[in-house]
Amino acid sequence: MPVPLFDTSGPLEPLRGELRAAIDRVLDSERYILGPEVRAFELEFAAYLGASHAVGVANGTDALTIALRAMGVGPGDEVIVPSFTFYASAEAIPPTGATAVFCDIDPETFCVTAETVRAVMTPRTRAVMAVHLFGNVAPIAEIEALGVPVLEDAAQAAGSLGPGGRPGALGTAATFSFYPSKNLGAFGDAGAITTNDEQIAERARALRFHGSRDKQTFEDIGYNSRLDELQAAVLRVQLPHLDGWADGRRAAAAHYAEAGLAELVSLPIATAGAKPAWHLYVVRSERADELEQALRAAGIEARSYYRRPTHRQPAMLTELDLPGTTEAARTNLALPISPVLSVEQVAEIVAAVRAVA
Ligand SMILES: *Cc1c(COP(=O)(O)O)cnc(C)c1O
Repeated sequence: MPVPLFDTSGPLEPLRGELRAAIDRVLDSERYILGPEVRAFELEFAAYLGASHAVGVANGTDALTIALRAMGVGPGDEVIVPSFTFYASAEAIPPTGATAVFCDIDPETFCVTAETVRAVMTPRTRAVMAVHLFGNVAPIAEIEALGVPVLEDAAQAAGSLGPGGRPGALGTAATFSFYPSKNLGAFGDAGAITTNDEQIAERARALRFHGSRDKQTFEDIGYNSRLDELQAAVLRVQLPHLDGWADGRRAAAAHYAEAGLAELVSLPIATAGAKPAWHLYVVRSERADELEQALRAAGIEARSYYRRPTHRQPAMLTELDLPGTTEAARTNLALPISPVLSVEQVAEIVAAVRAVA
């Protein structure tokens, strides 16, 4: 049986009726932008995370730019960001006027560490963008101990648990993407900024609406970056199920380990004290490309991520030497994972890996 890399429709199947009712509710209300559904979702999402504020925006990339600006990042500043992540993490920095400074990762966890951040800090470092990559949880407290504000890019970490709480409530501020394939996915583009800092929340609220608090006075050059009522309504139906889905993802990861996958490839390692809601289940192997081809031939969708890391992309080209990044980029391979991946599917995938490795 073919196995997709992720399954976005399976987990939603039992919720179809509720989703339709939520969409009808919005149609009946005739409010489509920044209305009661967005407000309710912001309150429910903040409460779920244990954060004081959530601000809905149009997507996870805007969320990063707006959050950085709300934190006071601007021209002349440097923002430290890993190179091994989705391109949008670094791409969100130059629009603030600041410069992206790339740091390395630990290839075993795929996350930045206090050491990799410290190695590139300068007097101009104004913030660190710590990415909770693949749902693993970056060590926020250790990075904050370096004396620099941390913005969590939690786009891949909805449903994860860190040592001091949930991603989204660990740093100075955090951002989420609700792109359809993320752990909590809308039916289109959507995102959010979360923070415990009232001033950052207020500034983000103004920036998402053209730099205005009251739609009359425009204090800043902002953005048109709002969350739709329809997306908020859809997200509200799903939020109560996020923890159950995260448990399903963790169970799938446990099945991989129990099936002996560690004998064949290097498994991802959770950071200290973390319970990741593996957004992607990414292993490492010297024969990643060969494995990818063999799995695909067997109908199993596997895919490597960020083979060309951001600091090697044409728009951001640098000559930096980031050994952990290079290693992760060269050897990584994402295997199928979802909240509903079965023991049988895992057994089939591990057997296909075993046939090659
Ligand atoms: C998906 C993602 C983003 C961007 O989110 P969009 O909603 O697609 O703009 C940013 N950072 C990371 C790590 C992501 O995975």
